[in-house]
Amino acid sequence: MRRQLTAQQREVLWLRAQGLSGPQIARHLSLAVSTIDYRERCIVHALDAANITNAVHLATAEGLIGRYADCGDRAAYLRHWRRGEIACPACKAANARRQAERRAATQPPPVTRELTP
Ligand SMILES: [Zn+2]
Repeated sequence: MRRQLTAQQREVLWLRAQGLSGPQIARHLSLAVSTIDYRERCIVHALDAANITNAVHLATAEGLIGRYADCGDRAAYLRHWRRGEIACPACKAANARRQAERRAATQPPPVTRELTP
């Protein structure tokens, strides 16, 4: 189950995951602290979390936190890599899903041993 967050909400979550406080996020995004508070309440509600710290944990586990608005696929993962950045959780999750799909696709057929008379 993947819950959807808006790009704005993901941006706030990303900054929270970097350890910024509400007022620090507000300064970083040039927004009012009350705007960040509102976005965080929406995030907590959307993820059915107890509070914003809980929401960061849940979103990380579900691969919802993205550094950029279009994070969350293989192309975005490679972009982090090219830029020398550490991939964000959304892109790591996308890459892990792709690797799991590739492993499943390239699984060799089971070996059937021929019976020798
Ligand atoms: Zn990313």
